[in-house]
Amino acid sequence: MSQPGPSPLAAGERQFSVEQARAAIADAVTGVPAPPAQRLPLAQALGRVLAEDLVSPLDVPAHDNSAMDGYAFDGAVLRDGEALQLSCIGTLLAGRAAARPVAEGECMRIMTGAVMPAGADTVVPLELCQVDGSRVLIAADTIRRGDNRRRRGEDLAAGSAALLAGRVLRPADLGLAASLGATGLALRQPLRVALFSTGDEIVAPGEPLPPGCIYDSNAASLGAALQRDGCAVLDLGRVRDDPEALRRCLAQALACAEVVVTSGGVSAGDADHTRALLAEFGEVGFWKVAMRPGRPFAFGRLRRTDGSPAWLFALPGNPVAALVTYQVLARDGLYALAGATPPVRPRLHARAAVPIRKRPGRSEYQRATLERGDDGQWLARPYASQGAGVLRSMSQADALLVLPHEAGSVAAGDWVEVWPFTGLD
Ligand code: AMP
Ligand code: MG
Repeated sequence: MSQPGPSPLAAGERQFSVEQARAAIADAVTGVPAPPAQRLPLAQALGRVLAEDLVSPLDVPAHDNSAMDGYAFDGAVLRDGEALQLSCIGTLLAGRAAARPVAEGECMRIMTGAVMPAGADTVVPLELCQVDGSRVLIAADTIRRGDNRRRRGEDLAAGSAALLAGRVLRPADLGLAASLGATGLALRQPLRVALFSTGDEIVAPGEPLPPGCIYDSNAASLGAALQRDGCAVLDLGRVRDDPEALRRCLAQALACAEVVVTSGGVSAGDADHTRALLAEFGEVGFWKVAMRPGRPFAFGRLRRTDGSPAWLFALPGNPVAALVTYQVLARDGLYALAGATPPVRPRLHARAAVPIRKRPGRSEYQRATLERGDDGQWLARPYASQGAGVLRSMSQADALLVLPHEAGSVAAGDWVEVWPFTGLD
């Protein structure tokens, strides 16, 4: 059996691959109780986390019904190689019950979704029949018994789970819940995340910009990313690189949130005083993650005033590094803490449009645009300037081009993995 290593939250700097860092975070947040649940109307449920399985009270569909506009009849009389002539006894619209069963030699005209009349188990589509007054002729071998009939409960049987706890609800899920007659759902309260930026040079947009200072972009981009991921963001603004100010801000964060996300102040030069200060609030590991952009990163378990735990994700200050480490390292941990199953994120394979230099031993996340190549395959073109501070690269790009830890340089035309920024909803 392998000996457990020192805790990833222990003091002292740890070197991690991205996979190791992700695993350490996943490990630390496993089993942490999810936020409390509350019942809310469907209209407020989009993007929220389902707190308990939604069990269907109904069979869906609730009755055997027709999948087509056509004629319903008893398919038992079909014979291979033989045409069939039936007599139509009426029309059945969706939502109506048949006046009487369909007897042998008879059929009933039926609309899509209408309940199958007693005595019928098969629907022949209108366009496959020859109709003459009330006589309906079905040519030989056009249809088999049971065709075009939807069975009661075939989509979902009463008592089975339509949606699983942890689901981040999408528009179709709300439709599904409504189709079962639900008007509200048990939802997790959003994870409360206190967000602040650190740095003496960081100024709030809207304020005058003194020489040597820059506007705070991380609060905007990280705040938006957190919001997209369903968190309730408490924006605590900017804090100077001053232990006392940082201490006050952390105390404020811990009073109102389960998670603290910060940017800046964890790079080698800053880490010492930040480390000492954070140690007052809990256990924090300062990590050098083998990734570009985004090497410095701190993760920790802090104590709230009431003794409950809070979680710290201290991201690097460089605007691209902050967003990439958020996506790669923090996001899944936040989903776990929120009680949510992370949504499936599609990955594409694309051909590199140009050669890319890379040395093995770190993961790289280049900003790239996507276009269709002459062969119809996706072509990923790295943005010209890959600096960790070039936020425009992130804004202009369509995707991250991901070069894994062990990968070396890539030739033009090689297949690479890309993570598109946008999905269907
Ligand atoms: P740091 O991680 O604090 O060493 O910051 C790295 C770089 O990112 C420095 O050039 C900072 O000026 C810049 N930076 C830090 N925080 C922010 C922020 N909130 N908005 C924009 N740039 C930032
Ligand atoms: Mg700084």
